[in-house]
Amino acid sequence: MSYPIPGNEIERLATLNDYRILDTAYDSRFDNLVEIASAHFATPIALVSLVDADRQWFKAKVGLDVRQTPRSQAFCTHSIARPDTVTVVEDAALDTRFQANPLVTGAPHIRFYAGAPILAEDGAALGTVCVIDRAPRHFDSADRRMLKRLAENARSLMELHRRNSLLREAADCDALTGVLNRRGLEKAIERAMGKVLAGEGCGLLYLDLDQFKQVNDTFGHDIGDSMLKETARRLQTSVRQGDLVARIGGDEFVILLAHPVNRTVLELVGTRILRACALPVMLHDQTVGMGLSIGGAQAPRDAVLAGDLMRAADRALLAAKRAGRGQVVIAGSQEETATVGPPLDTDHAPGGELALAIERDELFLEWQSYHDLETTTILGYEALVRWRHPRLGVIAPNNFVPLAEACGLSGRLDAWVLFRACQEAVRAPDTVSFSINLSAQWIANGNVVPLVRSALERSGLDPARLVLEITESTAIGSVEGAQRHMQELRALGIRLALDDFGTGYSSLAYLQRYPFDLLKLDQGFVAALGTDPRGNRLLQGVIHLAGLLDIAVIAEGIETAHQADMLREAGCRKGQGYLWARPRPTPWSMVAA
Ligand code: C2E
Ligand code: MG
Ligand code: MG
Repeated sequence: MSYPIPGNEIERLATLNDYRILDTAYDSRFDNLVEIASAHFATPIALVSLVDADRQWFKAKVGLDVRQTPRSQAFCTHSIARPDTVTVVEDAALDTRFQANPLVTGAPHIRFYAGAPILAEDGAALGTVCVIDRAPRHFDSADRRMLKRLAENARSLMELHRRNSLLREAADCDALTGVLNRRGLEKAIERAMGKVLAGEGCGLLYLDLDQFKQVNDTFGHDIGDSMLKETARRLQTSVRQGDLVARIGGDEFVILLAHPVNRTVLELVGTRILRACALPVMLHDQTVGMGLSIGGAQAPRDAVLAGDLMRAADRALLAAKRAGRGQVVIAGSQEETATVGPPLDTDHAPGGELALAIERDELFLEWQSYHDLETTTILGYEALVRWRHPRLGVIAPNNFVPLAEACGLSGRLDAWVLFRACQEAVRAPDTVSFSINLSAQWIANGNVVPLVRSALERSGLDPARLVLEITESTAIGSVEGAQRHMQELRALGIRLALDDFGTGYSSLAYLQRYPFDLLKLDQGFVAALGTDPRGNRLLQGVIHLAGLLDIAVIAEGIETAHQADMLREAGCRKGQGYLWARPRPTPWSMVAA
């Protein structure tokens, strides 16, 4: 279908883009406007339609389900070709331009259309305010004047929208160079990391001008400022569209490659930047040489959390500086190892293989039910992670969780388990709860609360159904941090369990120090039942004590009916063990089938 294209089409599209309004959320001020139009003209449909290169997109709409239609079908594209009038089609069925239009022959069955162009300051028609009916109609000159006024109102609202977006953008920008500032970068990294957890990747390059301080001291601040501006300009011309440049400190720049990268891509971009910046700069008649050091890191290989990724890139930058000026060093490379000590993980280090396993999706979850000891009803399931190793077969968590902790990978492992477990859990019957094991190391990490919140939001799982299990097997980094995070998690409605109670790691002191809702009696405790009368009395004591503290007790590793009986007699209400079920992949799908 052919349609008229305005003579100023290229400028028109540029002006429209400049309003930063396409594909933005609904806005009640625009909604009011179309409601007024629809009520005033008594039409079932009223729209604020913006005509983009190949579509019309509705900023506000009444009476229509879709948010956009192809431009070839848009009545409004005829309106914007005649910016000085209100275009009226009294009966589309009789108009040769529209008779065969699918919007006329099919839903929404347009018969009548009137559209007043929304004109930008430069005269470009960006779209229309239009009203549509399913029956032919007449539209007199008073109607035209009214519709025109509504279009002028829409234009004022668009101006307001543009000004507000510019202000918001300015708050995220560095005033000197115009690139993103730290705040803008952090937001962008958070967005990119959200996608990393959903399976995509991204990369970060940290750049530092060599001897910038000397330039500043020798040539003065004006020249220093000019040099920073020139650097920002060169960086922007060295990266692809979609990559972001930021200045986060005096002479520190960061580039975010918001698409999957690998070490080779990072090195390539880094080298291209070094080359672009190698030419000396002419500043106020002075020729000033520029040197850079660059460190790079990638997600999810080096980190799944924004802060960790920034630290990994910063650490690689440190290695680059130590290696001598004008170098690119990528996290995990031999250059980094040689200069700043052993890496968190490399392809050769033991943790490297585990890091790759997370990336390659070699981990999977099994779930083990826990039960009401009285009725044997299933109360919930605990997620237990396994690693399907390409050569060694399935590896139990006891053989790689400690490795993850030792290599600083526990955050990545726990984040993976958390997201996957929540994803799987929402498909289970809604009467049960779910337990997830977190490494004790990680509970003190500042990212734990946002990450748990994000896993819940993404999956839609009710926080009241989630239990987080923590074993104190390694040192908790910061007691205050851990306590604060645990309180915040409980405030979300999540319950916390002290795992492996009675093993010597998890002791009474933890019940006092941290706010637990549940304690899980270690299976060693259960295995010893009946063999030693003191054991039985100790068990009764622990259960009684937990009751006094308002903490529920769940016994682990119950293998025989006799053990279950003894526990029940001692006052324990909940249990888990091979007596009922071994861990299995999503057992609830079998129940449902
Ligand atoms: P846990 O949290 O105390 O988990 C209970 C372990 O006991 C599981 O072993 C389970 O399979 C096993 N078990 C359950 N019932 C019985 C029974 O009746 N008899 C016997 N002999 N064993 C039973 P699994 O799956 O090998 O997990 C071992 C440990 O690894 C877990 O102990 C937990 O501390 C850790 N772990 C498992 N998954 C994760 C995870 O996703 N993240 C972290 N950080 N740790 C995990
Ligand atoms: Mg556990
Ligand atoms: Mg346990």
